[in-house]
Amino acid sequence: MLGSCRKIDTLGRVTIPKEMRKKYAITDETLLSITEQNDKIVIQKAIPTCKLCGSEQDVDESIMVCKRCSEKIKNQ
Ligand SMILES: [Zn+2]
Repeated sequence: MLGSCRKIDTLGRVTIPKEMRKKYAITDETLLSITEQNDKIVIQKAIPTCKLCGSEQDVDESIMVCKRCSEKIKNQ
């Protein structure tokens, strides 16, 4: 299965097809994570994690802190 074929440019950039960007709600603000998995390059939306505890739950992306930690800070 080839899917959509794109050439990589001289700077190593590749364009993600518009339909896929739309489907996955990827905008010019979206942080993507690029990893290797079994000899494949995997591009996925980066999951925001709390910079204090590493939790993926209820993370406020503007401060990158989860709800639990921000409440803990407020109550100190
Ligand atoms: Zn946290």
